[in-house]
Amino acid sequence: MNSHPILKATFSCLLLSMWPAASYLASNMKNGLTVAYMLPIIMAVCLASCLVVLAIVKTIRQDKHAQAIYSWGAAVALFFCYGIVHDFLDGYDLGRFRFIFPIWFGLFCVGVVLVWKLSFRPEGKRALFWGAAALIALPTWQIASQSLALTSSARNFDGQQPTSGYDQTISDEAAEDMPSVFFIVLDAYSRADILQSELGFDNSLFLNELKDNGFFIADRSRVNYTATLLSLSSTLSMNYHFKSGELSNLATLAQVIQGHNEVTRQFDALGYTYAKATPSHWFASKCSNVEDICISPAGMSEHYRDLMAMAPVEHFMLMVAPKLLQDLFNLGDVTLFDVSERLGQVRTTPLFLFAHMLIPHAPYRYTPECEYLPPNQSGTYLDNLHCANKQVLEFVRWVDNHHPNAIIVIQSDHGIGNFTGTSPGKDWLYPGLTEQQFDIKAANLNVWRLPEDCKPMLRNDLTSINTFRIVFACIHGTAPEMLGDEFFVSNYKSMLIRPLRE
Ligand SMILES: [Zn+2]
Repeated sequence: MNSHPILKATFSCLLLSMWPAASYLASNMKNGLTVAYMLPIIMAVCLASCLVVLAIVKTIRQDKHAQAIYSWGAAVALFFCYGIVHDFLDGYDLGRFRFIFPIWFGLFCVGVVLVWKLSFRPEGKRALFWGAAALIALPTWQIASQSLALTSSARNFDGQQPTSGYDQTISDEAAEDMPSVFFIVLDAYSRADILQSELGFDNSLFLNELKDNGFFIADRSRVNYTATLLSLSSTLSMNYHFKSGELSNLATLAQVIQGHNEVTRQFDALGYTYAKATPSHWFASKCSNVEDICISPAGMSEHYRDLMAMAPVEHFMLMVAPKLLQDLFNLGDVTLFDVSERLGQVRTTPLFLFAHMLIPHAPYRYTPECEYLPPNQSGTYLDNLHCANKQVLEFVRWVDNHHPNAIIVIQSDHGIGNFTGTSPGKDWLYPGLTEQQFDIKAANLNVWRLPEDCKPMLRNDLTSINTFRIVFACIHGTAPEMLGDEFFVSNYKSMLIRPLRE
């Protein structure tokens, strides 16, 4: 028996099986997806293919082994090509499962039969072997080069330390006297005057209730960077980390948000327990091994959903079991109600909570009363803003009961940015961008509750960069070393960033 062709076929089959997940990883690394995250999926696919190869060897006639193995590899790769066919045909307005599925299935069958026929001859086997190697080569090269770039940019980033720092480690007794800090980010929550001018919505009922609860409303607040990755990472770095040029690797910014930042370092030195709550739909916010408590969604990650959409699985489930699909991805979603419930079980103080909530940001999944909408239905921005308000007020009541002296900062990372014709759409690098247009995206919610002594540190026109300079100054009883206000515009598509005014 000549085992060499079987080994070669098995190797090609594994390469073909790995290809869908590897190419998905290669194209999503710039958004923070890591090799470590995808490796178990790639291994699982390989293992499944190995089991199929074993079954083939046990059950099929020996002279057909290589053909069956090559065909199985092709079937796996083609199974995950449904998304390509779907996207292509959607452009021709055929966007329905009953049209797209048969077309994809026809192509799938033709592809598998072609590989079966081709692998009958030695030169066909050779072509398939080299074809599989060529197919996997591109994503492998992209993954390797992005991993290298990530390692070197992370090294450079670590070198940038803020000018302000309180490094002394505090004794346990002193730490217990320090206030817990609750930092809540409501993604894309616009400032009150922008809600009024752009949507005709009056948010004063909510803001007045906060004021009655001792909150300060920074009603001229702006963020310094208008995109989530840049905005949140600069707030947590307490510094302007990128000022102009090309954003070579967004994964570095994701790592900052995941916990490798100056704010968590300083809280750690002060002996705080670090709790993090992450939204279900944004990878860059996921927990890393830095936090003591991770409150993350129980549902499946959106990356599994992407992989399901590359195959006909998501489309099929939307037709036959939409509720099950919704439950798999949504039911574990983290709200502030969940956060308080979980933190209620934590006995150590002081606490630092960083809760990045994907609300009122799209997709608009909630009713104003924070009920889940049925699958395939979307609410509005304002519905989700109402739900965010409801969560915040209940969370503040919980803090009052459990951490009465806590510092609370509720901020958004940017406004919604594209309400009306007055905004330039997605092109924030547009050279003629006016201050008012910039404000539609930069004017953010920024409300604070500080101990009485610290209140003079607050201003109406705070910007997000100084958030933790104020928080740490308040904890240490010193004057904050504030940075001057600078503003930047960026565009993920062209990966460019520049100052608003040059
Ligand atoms: Zn955002």
